[in-house]
Amino acid sequence: MENEHSHGCLVCGEELVYDGVPQERECVVCHRRFISDCACPHGHYVCDACHEKGGMTMARAVCLEAKDRDPLAILLRLMDLPDVHMHGPEHHILVGSALLTAYHNCTGKLDLPTALTEMARRGQQIPGGVCGFWGCCGAAISAGMFMSIVTGSTPLKEKEWSMCNRLTAQCLTRIAELGGPRCCKRDSYTAVKTAVEFTARELGVQMEMPKKIVCRFYPQNAQCRGVRCLYNPHHQ
Ligand SMILES: [Zn+2]
Ligand SMILES: [Zn+2]
Repeated sequence: MENEHSHGCLVCGEELVYDGVPQERECVVCHRRFISDCACPHGHYVCDACHEKGGMTMARAVCLEAKDRDPLAILLRLMDLPDVHMHGPEHHILVGSALLTAYHNCTGKLDLPTALTEMARRGQQIPGGVCGFWGCCGAAISAGMFMSIVTGSTPLKEKEWSMCNRLTAQCLTRIAELGGPRCCKRDSYTAVKTAVEFTARELGVQMEMPKKIVCRFYPQNAQCRGVRCLYNPHHQ
C-alpha cells in the first residue's frame, strides 16, 4: 500500500507542482543546480542522483530544511522517504534526528548540522533486532543519544550521564509495557513522545506533539497488533 506522501515532496510532503516551465533549481541535498520543471510549492527540489542515493541521504536534508517544533511531524516525513522500511535499523538514526531538529527549532540552540552528523554516526552502530536480542530497543537508545548530544554527555559527566541513561530507561519501560512483537513505528512514536515529556520536565524546553498519535503505516506491517496497538486509528 502506498502512503500519502508517495508522490509528494520528499522534504516537506507537499504536493509536487509540474509547472511545465523548466528553470534552474538547486538540489536541497547536494546544492548542485539543474534544469527542472518540477518542485514543491516551497521550492524544494531533489536531483535525480540524490534521489537514487536513497532515504538516508535525504533524511539529513529534510531535517535541515524542517521548521517544525514537533518531532513527530518530522519523524513521519523521514519515515516516508524511499528506502526507509516498515522495520529496520534506520529508525535508530531517525528518532534522534527528528528530536534534535525539533529541539533546535524550539531553542535556536545546537549546531544542527554537526549534531545530525554525530547522531548518524552513533545511530548506525546500533544493529537491527537489538530489541529482541539484547533487550534494548534501538529507538529508545536513539532518544538517549539525542539527550546525550543535547547535554554534551560523556562517560565522565555526572548529571548529563544520568539524564541520557534515564531517558533511555523511561523509553524502554514504556516500549516494553506496550508489548511485542517489535514494531519500529510504534517503538519510535513511543520513544519520541517520552523524550518530548522528559525534555520539557528536565530541560524546560517544550517541543510540540499532536494530541493523539495515529499510525498510518500499519497496513504494511504483517505483525501489527491491530486495534490492540495504542496508535491504531481504531484503538479503543
Ligand atoms: Zn517541499
Ligand atoms: Zn542532488
